[in-house]
This record gives sequence, structure tokens and C-alpha cells, in this order.
Amino acid sequence: SCTTQHVVEAMRSAANSVSEHRDELVELDRAIGDGDHGENMERGFLAVRNQLELTVPESPAAALKSVATSLISSVGGAAGPLFGTAFLRASTAVGDAETLDGPTVAAALRAALDGVTARGKAEREDKTMVDALAPAAEAAEAASTTAGSGPSAVLRAAAEAAETGARTTVSLIAKKGRASYLGDRSAGHLDPGARSVVLLLNAFADVTG
Ligand code: ADP
Ligand code: MG
Ligand code: MG
Repeated sequence: SCTTQHVVEAMRSAANSVSEHRDELVELDRAIGDGDHGENMERGFLAVRNQLELTVPESPAAALKSVATSLISSVGGAAGPLFGTAFLRASTAVGDAETLDGPTVAAALRAALDGVTARGKAEREDKTMVDALAPAAEAAEAASTTAGSGPSAVLRAAAEAAETGARTTVSLIAKKGRASYLGDRSAGHLDPGARSVVLLLNAFADVTG
């Protein structure tokens, strides 16, 4: 199952992935936003990685809370506080578990989604990160009920569903966030925040036990 060390390693992996895809995220946000999503995510996850090295967390919940605090304090854009809220809710959802099993990971993803929608008020098909995160949470729950599905299998299922969900954002017209200012002209482009959800879930799935 998934230890505190796995969670920390998953965040390092996420930071690497976000840095590797920085230019792609910038290009996506340039098309329908203000072009800073790659920088925002890179800055946020570098802060996450630095803080996790500075103060080694003693539980999965503490690690997730550290991630949330780093993102909220280092990222000014819309996505920073939204991802921050997601990790904060995930931290609360895992509670005092010393290691995370599949169902706990699924519950954390559900809590993360609830946090994002509570804060950002986006519904599905508003062309936001919710279009990736909502199907991911559902797929995680479904996968976690299969006997023997550990965190990695649950996260793998979540990442695949997020990928499919993110692809649906291409044809959608944005109803929330900066892209909504474009109206109909937002159609034809992948939502950057949805792409980031895919990157994060893939990175987590690669690491966890
Ligand atoms: P900003 O738009 O402030 O420059 P970013 O570029 O970092 O922030 O993030 C943009 C992403 O944030 C969008 O692609 C979208 O996925 C997400 N987003 C924006 N507003 C919302 C919202 N209200 N609910 C959910 N996600 C949102
Ligand atoms: Mg932006
Ligand atoms: Mg911005």
C-alpha cells in the first residue's frame, strides 16, 4: 500500500512531470487564457517539493496538507487555490491512516473533487479541470471496489478516466475561468487545467505501491 514516503515520492514525480510539460501547459493556456498555467504549475510544484524536503511529513495526511499549503501560498492564478483546496480536502479525507489503501485513495479523490467544485462552482462540461477530475473520482471508486485493487491500480484507472474526460474539453465552450471570456471561441482547445489533472494522476500512479 501507499506510505508517507510514497506520497512524498509521488509529489516529486508530479513536480518533474509538470516541469517537463511546462511549455505544453503554457501553449494550452495561451490559446484560451493568459498563458501562465505552465509557469503557475511549475512554480507551485517546485514549492511543494522544496517544502517536503525542508519538513519531512510524518503521515500521508501531513504530506498532502503540506502540498496544499505550498500550492496556495505560491500560485496566484485560479488553478493554484483550486488544486490547493483539492489536496487540503484529500488530506482531511485520509485522516490518520498510516498507509493508504485503494478505497482511501478513491475517497481522497472524491474529497478533492468536492473541494474544487465547492470553491470554483464549476459543473461538468464547463470546460475546466472538473471535466478531468470528476470522471477520475468515479473511476477510482469503481476500481477500488474490485478486490485487491491497491492505490496504484486505483490511480491508474483514475488517470485513464481523466485523460478521456480532458479530451472532451476540446469541443466544449468554457463557462468558468478566464477561457469563458472567449465565449464560443474557447471551443476547439484542450483545457489546460484538465491537462494538469491528467499529468498529476499519471505521476501519482507511477509511484504509489
Ligand atoms: P488563471 O486562469 O488565473 O491564469 P491558470 O492559468 O493557472 O489560472 O489556471 C487555469 C485553469 O484553471 C483552467 O484551465 C481551468 O481548468 C481551471 N479553472 C479556472 N476556473 C475554474 C473554476 N471556477 N473551477 C474549476 N477550474 C477552474
Ligand atoms: Mg492562466
Ligand atoms: Mg493568470
